[in-house]
Amino acid sequence: LIQVDGLTKAFGDNEVLRGIEFSVDSGSVTAVIGPSGSGKTTLLRSLNALDVPDTGVIRVADVTIDFAGDYAKSDIARYRSQSGFVFQNHNLFPHKTVLENVIEGPVVVQRRPVADATADAQRLLDSVGLGDRADDYPAQLSGGQQQRVGIVRAVAMNPKVLLLDEPTSALDPELVGEVLRVIRDLAAQNWTMVVVTHEISFARQVSDQVLFVDGGVIVERGAPEQVIGAPEHERTAAFLRRLT
Ligand code: ATP
Repeated sequence: LIQVDGLTKAFGDNEVLRGIEFSVDSGSVTAVIGPSGSGKTTLLRSLNALDVPDTGVIRVADVTIDFAGDYAKSDIARYRSQSGFVFQNHNLFPHKTVLENVIEGPVVVQRRPVADATADAQRLLDSVGLGDRADDYPAQLSGGQQQRVGIVRAVAMNPKVLLLDEPTSALDPELVGEVLRVIRDLAAQNWTMVVVTHEISFARQVSDQVLFVDGGVIVERGAPEQVIGAPEHERTAAFLRRLT
């Protein structure tokens, strides 16, 4: 579903991504792990053109962009619409209710009728245990509840793939579980997901593929039993040792 080749990205002199290649199968979960500052978030943001790569060819579903070549703004819009992004800090609109946050994209961007979008949003909120909070404002919710709304908002656009950027790292420890449960449920429903995470045990249990990123390259890639359970590279092993 996703194919990335030769992805590079620099911020000024800082070469953050230095030739990234990987693919993601439809219906699979890919966990991106690695040290702080290694480029994980930049890699994820590239898949939605929130950060625009310098070079590289990326295909997401049926849209392919050669970032070194010419492409139109409309290509980027189509590329973006293939994926839904879940931010570390959920990025909900504070002055809109939970329901209004969720239906904003479907109604404004996808021009769906409000009644349909509302019915779908209500169903999705029910599925994450927030059916009775639709009329609350984000500030009335806990961090874990806000993040569950952030996930629902991305799902409501019905993208081909969900991109989650450290979805639990801004949460108090006791709120992490409820958000991971929602992600597990989505995995069980065969959503394709790419998740940047520091939750190594979660990555091991839920992902089909792990990318270990260090210094802007993928040092090791494979099944979680291999990359996390029996890493081949010393850098991977050293990173995992530091976490335990
Ligand atoms: P963390 O686990 O700490 O979130 P990360 O692996 O996700 O780290 P990135 O957030 O991708 O790493 O950042 C990689 C490097 O790119 C860092 O050196 C960071 O300072 C730099 N960087 C990221 N975004 C920008 C930006 N918009 N402008 C300038 N530098 C940036």
